[in-house]
Amino acid sequence: MEKTTKTEAWYRRRAAILPKGIGIFSPASAVSAKGALVYDAEGRELIDFAGGIGVLNAGHCPEPVVTAIQEQAARLIHVGFNIAVYDAYLNLAEKLADLFPHGASTKVMLVNTGAEAVENAIKIARQATGRPAVLCYDSAFHGRSLMAMTLTSKVGYKANCGPFAPEVYRLPFPYYRDGSDVSEEAFSQQHIDLLHHFFQTHVAASQVAAVIVEPVQGEGGFHVIAPTYLSALRRVCDEKGILLILDEVQSGFGRTGKWAAYEHYGVVPDLSTWAKSMGSGMPIGCVIGKAEVMDAAGPATIGGTYPGNPVCAAAALATIRYMEEIDINSLGQKVGHIVRRRFEAMQQRFPNTVAAVHGLGAMLSIELRTPDGQPAAELTKQILQYANQEGLILISAGVLGNYVRVLSPLVISEAHLERGLDIIENALEKLAPCA
Ligand code: PMP
Repeated sequence: MEKTTKTEAWYRRRAAILPKGIGIFSPASAVSAKGALVYDAEGRELIDFAGGIGVLNAGHCPEPVVTAIQEQAARLIHVGFNIAVYDAYLNLAEKLADLFPHGASTKVMLVNTGAEAVENAIKIARQATGRPAVLCYDSAFHGRSLMAMTLTSKVGYKANCGPFAPEVYRLPFPYYRDGSDVSEEAFSQQHIDLLHHFFQTHVAASQVAAVIVEPVQGEGGFHVIAPTYLSALRRVCDEKGILLILDEVQSGFGRTGKWAAYEHYGVVPDLSTWAKSMGSGMPIGCVIGKAEVMDAAGPATIGGTYPGNPVCAAAALATIRYMEEIDINSLGQKVGHIVRRRFEAMQQRFPNTVAAVHGLGAMLSIELRTPDGQPAAELTKQILQYANQEGLILISAGVLGNYVRVLSPLVISEAHLERGLDIIENALEKLAPCA
C-alpha cells in the first residue's frame, strides 16, 4: 500500500471540509517559513516563488514585523477606529502619504484586502464625480467582491456569480510588445483614439467616474501598460473630469524596483489601491488619494469594523520601515535582473515553448505556447507540479493559465533564486515538446 504523506492527508481533510470553489494554485503545505523558504508538513525545505501571491516582498516573518505584531497584540488588538482613535493607524497613514504623495495634499484610508481597497476607491470616485460609470481593461484582476469581480476580466474567476455590477465598461489593455511593427507612441495613440471612440459608442465621458488600471497586470500575466498610453490617459482623464485609479495591489512595495509601479511612468493617480506586501501577510490594504477626492465620500459611506486594526497597522508600519532599511527597491531591481536574464535565456533555448518574457522589475513571467502557437495551460500545470516535487513553490498566471510567474520574496538569496530558476529550466527541458 502506498504511504500517504501528511500533506496529502491535509489535502484530503481540506476537500472534506472546505467548499470546492476555494482554489488550489499549488500542491504545497506549510508549517513555518522564513525569508524565502517554506518548511512543509514533511519537513521539506521549499523555495518560495509565490510569496503568498505577491504578499511577501519583505520575506516570510521579518523579525521587526514579528516583534511589532507581538508588542501591539499585547497592548491593543482591536477597538474599532470609529470608536476610538489610536496612533498605529495614524502613524501608518502618515507614512503612506509621505511615500505616495497624490498631489498637493494626500489622504489615506486603511482597509483589509485588495478587493476592499478597489471597492472603496470606486465608491469614493463615484461620490467625488457624481458619475456612475467605471472603465477597466481586458485581463484585469481587481479582486473577488462584487464590484472588484465585475472589474476582473477572467471569466473563470466569475462563473455563475452574476448579475455583475452595472456601469462597468471594458477596454483592450494597451500592452505594447517589443518588435511590433508600429512604434510604442503610434500604438498608444491608436489606443487613445479607441478610447475617444469608446466615449462615442459605449459610454459618454461625462458619465465616467473613473478609469481603473493595473500599471503591470498581476493575474493577467505581468503585462506592462504602454508608457505613452498611461501619460496620455492621465491627460484625457484631466480633460474629461475622470479620476484615474491605479491598482498597485500586486505591483507595489518594491516589486518592480520602485515603491509604486506608476513611478516608472511619472504619472500621479487621483486614487490608488494597495494591499499584499504592505503588511507582510497581515490582512491590510489602503486607498490613497488626493485629499479633495478622498474627502468627497460622505460620512460613514466608507469604513468597516476591522480596517486598520492596530495589529495589522503596526505590522504594516514595521514592514515599510524594514523595507526602507534593506532598500527593498534595489533588491527588486537585483532580483529582476537575475530572473530576466534567466527567462530570456530560457526563451532562446526553448523558442517553441517560451513565447515571451513579460513584466517589469522583479514582476516577471514567461508565456508558454504549444508548438502550433496555442496557450500551453496543460504544460504550465505540469511545470508547477514538477517544481513542487523538486522543492519549489511556483504559481501560474494569465487569463488562459499559460504563464509561469515569479513573485519570490525580494530578500531571497542569489543561490536560492538561481536554484529556483534552475528547477523551472529543468522542467522545461523535461516537459517542453520539441525543445
Ligand atoms: N488587485 C490586484 C492587482 C490584485 O493582484 C489582487 C489580488 N491578486 C487584488 C486586487 C485583490 O486583492 P485581495 O485578494 O487582497 O482582495
